[in-house]
Amino acid sequence: MDRLRNKIRDIPDFPKPGIIFKDITPLVKDPAALRLSVHQLLQPFLGREITAVAGMEARGFIFGSLVAWELGLPFVPLRKPGKLPYDVQSVAYDLEYGSATLEVHIDAFDADDRVLLIDDLLATGGTAKASCELVEKTGAKVEACAFVVELDFLKGRDKLSNYEIHTLIKF
Ligand code: IMP
Repeated sequence: MDRLRNKIRDIPDFPKPGIIFKDITPLVKDPAALRLSVHQLLQPFLGREITAVAGMEARGFIFGSLVAWELGLPFVPLRKPGKLPYDVQSVAYDLEYGSATLEVHIDAFDADDRVLLIDDLLATGGTAKASCELVEKTGAKVEACAFVVELDFLKGRDKLSNYEIHTLIKF
């Protein structure tokens, strides 16, 4: 995984002072690294009963749609408010300062869908937990969540103890 780790760049003081942002754009710019990350993300799920892949806006769209493509499954975008044109289900969640909302089309999943959630990075786990709740609100089941990067020290996994979690690189 060092090949992937070396493609993640630290950007100090982004988006605000004191935060070191993990920038995945060097990874997606390198076709071999991008292919490797997608294959590693889907590896635990080969032969599993997954029926749809969902990705969180925005970087979850990059990895999620490639995983869906490789598995031959539907891709469902989980979006920030006001972006989806049809009727939506939504979940609001707390951020460190303020709150955020994620939305999904009400007909995005079937009730018997088993969903694999994909995002670029697991930090505090707030986004992932809200995404799981959003999928469940539609009646579908969360089969597992997979991330390229996990910021171990933020203990996002603790918020997701009811779910199967896979990550490729830990910092
Ligand atoms: P959480 O809700 O605190 O787990 O934050 C995870 C969400 O914020 C994901 O959708 C990430 O894309 C984004 N995010 C938070 N920190 C970073 C970072 O350092 N690099 C890239 N994305 C981040």
